[in-house]
Amino acid sequence: KKLNIALCGLGNYASMLASGIEASTYCKLAGIVTGTPAKASAWKKQFNIPEKNSYNYQNFDQIVNNKDIDLVYIVLPNGLHKEFTIRAAKAGKHVITEKPMAISVEDCKEMIKTCDEHNVQLAVGYRLHYEPYHIEIKRLGQEKVFGQVRFIGASLGYKTYDTVNLQTHLDKSDPAEWRLNKKLSGGGPLMDLGIYCIQSCRYVLGEEPVAVTAQFGPVHDKIRFSETEETIIWQMEFPSGAVANCETSCGFNIDKFHASADEGFFELSPALSYGPFAGRTSEKELKFPTINQQQTQLDEIARLLLENKKLPDHITGHEGLKDIKIINAIYEAAQTGTKVWLK
Ligand code: NAD
Repeated sequence: KKLNIALCGLGNYASMLASGIEASTYCKLAGIVTGTPAKASAWKKQFNIPEKNSYNYQNFDQIVNNKDIDLVYIVLPNGLHKEFTIRAAKAGKHVITEKPMAISVEDCKEMIKTCDEHNVQLAVGYRLHYEPYHIEIKRLGQEKVFGQVRFIGASLGYKTYDTVNLQTHLDKSDPAEWRLNKKLSGGGPLMDLGIYCIQSCRYVLGEEPVAVTAQFGPVHDKIRFSETEETIIWQMEFPSGAVANCETSCGFNIDKFHASADEGFFELSPALSYGPFAGRTSEKELKFPTINQQQTQLDEIARLLLENKKLPDHITGHEGLKDIKIINAIYEAAQTGTKVWLK
C-alpha cells in the first residue's frame, strides 16, 4: 500500500514535492488543493488525479469524506500553514506542513493541539534530516568525533533582486511576492532560509541555544524590504559553551556550514540548499551520494505512517515550535540590540 498524499498549494516547491512523490516507493500523489482552476486542470491531467480528489480553498473541508487521501502536505505561504493544518487535522488527515511551521508560537501550539485532539500526526518539511551529508555532520558533532564542537558558522542566502535596477519588476501586491509581506511570511530570510542554519546548529550540537544576539544588515532596497529584513546576522550560545554565528540574506548568495571542534573541523559547501553538497573534515573529503531530498523525506515519513508508527521527534510539530521560539528571540535581539535568553 502507498500513502495517498494531497498537495495543498501548487507553487514552486509543490512541483519539487510532486517530483519527489513520483520518484518515491511509498507515496502517491492522490489529490490537490488549489485556488487556481487552470492549475487544477493541468495537475489532474499530468498526475492522473481524479476530479473527486481535487479541492479548492473553499471546499477543502469536504476532504473529511474522502477515504482516498491519507495526508495533506501544506505548501502554502507561511502565514496560511496554521489554518490549513488545522482544517486538515479536523478532517482526520495526517499533516506535513512546510517550514517554517507557522508565523507565531501560539499558532504552532494550536496546530500541535488540534492534531493531537484528532489523532493525526504532524510533521514539518525538514528535508535535510534525511540527507546523507547532514546525517554525517550530525553524527560528527553529537558523537564528538573531533571532540567538543566550539564554534559553528552557518549561512544561507540568495540574491533575490537586481541590485543595479532596484524595484524594476516589483509589485508587492502580487501574490507571488508573499515573502515580502509580513502577514504571509512572518518575516524575511530568517523565516525562509535562516531556519536551516538554526536547525543545523541544533542537530550538530544536539543542544538547544540558551541565548541569542542579532543584528539586522544594511537595507539596499527600502521599498522591497519595508516589512521584512533583507539581511540578518545572529549568534547563538549553547549550554556546552559552543557558539554559532549565522547569517541569512535576500541580498547575497551564500550556502555554507563549518564546525570547529577541539581536535579538528568539518564543513559543507554547498551546505543547506537542494545540493549537490560537498564537504570535508580536517582528515578527509566527505563523499556521499546525491539523493532526491524530497523523495527520501516523503518515503521515510510514509513508511512510518503506513505502519502506524510514531514519527521521530526531530521532524514533528514540537521541533517546528522550537525553531519559531528561537526565531522570535533572534528578531527581538536584533530589534532591541540586547541579548535575549531562551527559557
Ligand atoms: P510559491 O509562491 O511558489 O507557492 C505558494 C502557493 O500558495 C502558490 O501556488 C499560491 O497560488 C498559493 N497561495 C494560496 N493562497 C495564497 C496567498 N494568499 N498568497 C500567495 N500565495 C497563495 O511559494 P513556495 O516557494 O512554493 O513556498 C511555499 C511554502 O513552501 C513556504 O512555506 C516555503 O517556506 C516552503 N518551501 C520549502 C522549501 C524546502 O526546501 N523545504 C523550499 C521552498 C519553499
